[in-house]
Amino acid sequence: MIKENLEKIRATLPKSVTLVAVSKTKPVSDLQEAYDAGQRIFGENHALEMRDKHEVLPTDIQWHFIGHLQTNKIKYIIPFVTLIHSIDSANLLEAVNKEAKKHDRVVDCLLQFHIAQEETKFGLDLDEARQLLESDEFKKMDNVRICGVMGMATFTEDMDEVRKEFKHLKEIFDTLKAKYFAGQPQFKEISMGMSDDYPIAVEEGATLVRVGSKIFGARNYNV
Ligand SMILES: *Cc1c(COP(=O)(O)O)cnc(C)c1O
Repeated sequence: MIKENLEKIRATLPKSVTLVAVSKTKPVSDLQEAYDAGQRIFGENHALEMRDKHEVLPTDIQWHFIGHLQTNKIKYIIPFVTLIHSIDSANLLEAVNKEAKKHDRVVDCLLQFHIAQEETKFGLDLDEARQLLESDEFKKMDNVRICGVMGMATFTEDMDEVRKEFKHLKEIFDTLKAKYFAGQPQFKEISMGMSDDYPIAVEEGATLVRVGSKIFGARNYNV
């Protein structure tokens, strides 16, 4: 079913949108099946789980980290991670920069914004992002590169609310692009949309959609 699911989803995505297959909690055999169907970008939200899968799967996979990243776990993913979607504080960005330096890498990152109504979700607001981007500390971070923004909509059936939140994230992207990243082509990503809302996210300007259960089936536990 994984192959069919992938094909169905890909058929609905415009060329400008990249599909991140969210494989958290799923066994390596499921990822291999998606790989065999041509999928090369996978999203995980636990550092050790991602490292373990990386060790046994093909080396041309691009690994995207999409979950809340604890500073003491950064070291497990920095040697190979392609994109960290979930930078939600200046401290975390600084810690990623420090670890990336040790490995002589420049690691691509997205700033995660809190766009949902739920307080439990992580993310910056626009003022916090401004502070971060204007700080002297940020200017010295040579081992991270900010490539865009990420957000998670409220968990609700109310698709008008979800659309409003995606529009908000697009506005944040446009604001930051104009003020801090004008003329910097790497700042181009808007990561938004999951299994239940990615078509709306695409309509509102997503460049990366993070789809899990629509590809791999329901997860046994909700993480
Ligand atoms: C789990 C997860 C997804 C995918 O969720 P589905 O509803 O299964 O598509 C996307 N983004 C993040 C940050 C996640 O944690």
